[in-house]
Amino acid sequence: MTLKLLILGGTTEASALARALKDDGRFAPVLSLAGATKNPAPPPIPFRIGGFGGAQGLADFLAAEKVDLMIDATHPFADKMKRNAAEAAAIANVPLLAIRRPGWVAQPGDDWTVVATMAAAVDALGPKHKRVLLTIGQKELAPFKAAPRHAYVIRSVDAPDADSLPPDAEIITARGPFAEADERRLLDERGIEAIVTKNSGGAATHAKLAAARELGVPVIMVARPPVPDVESVETVEAALEWLERLHDTHASSTRRGV
Ligand code: NAP
Repeated sequence: MTLKLLILGGTTEASALARALKDDGRFAPVLSLAGATKNPAPPPIPFRIGGFGGAQGLADFLAAEKVDLMIDATHPFADKMKRNAAEAAAIANVPLLAIRRPGWVAQPGDDWTVVATMAAAVDALGPKHKRVLLTIGQKELAPFKAAPRHAYVIRSVDAPDADSLPPDAEIITARGPFAEADERRLLDERGIEAIVTKNSGGAATHAKLAAARELGVPVIMVARPPVPDVESVETVEAALEWLERLHDTHASSTRRGV
């Protein structure tokens, strides 16, 4: 039997899951992307792009498309989608698993200030002019307009809207993974005195933290938002085991005629 699976994506985990399932006849996976990235790499499985219209919209989609299982593999900071997924799964009675990659943890030699919001990150930069590297994506830059005394180097996948930028801003568009030697060079060449980042976790964008430790550059780390309490695993491998287990359960209840 083939189970229809909806993967909420936009992350390396979702892409890895799609690759792992592309030739697995037990599942008919569909990858859902928000449409946030202008040119996403084409997925190896069927995909759809764009919002569902809130939790009820997603619940309606699950019912209309006869989805059997859902995996929330969205980014740790995509908290709205995570809440919608939990609510929609309950409404439509579809089993949901979340992939929650572990957050980064400060190591000896790190100089981190952990803050709860982007506005608090702006405050944590302090009153004196600094050269700041922002690796927070392109959608949450506006709070930094309140601190025009700093010079910003902004690295994001797509170029940000000009309206959202503080006056002294250099834009670097780049997609990870990034190597530590390149990150060291970036910090060094631009004379970076502070980094602002979100605690995304994962290997692809971790190298900047190792480079910061080595060069003694302080990091302002925006903590993760709270997420709903749903069944979760940390890795794609564990998610594949969950899928296998649920497939076996479905297959044996179908055999028993339940
Ligand atoms: P968000 O604030 O949690 O979601 C905003 C809205 O975007 C949702 O309510 C939903 O619209 C739509 N949406 C989000 N993820 C979707 C998906 N996978 N498929 C279809 N619709 C989706 O999310 P966000 O922080 O804007 O992130 C958008 C996407 O970028 C996510 O796929 C996320 O995994 C990825 N991403 C986010 C970050 C980050 O730092 N936030 C970083 C890297 C990648 P409706 O309510 O209309 O359904």
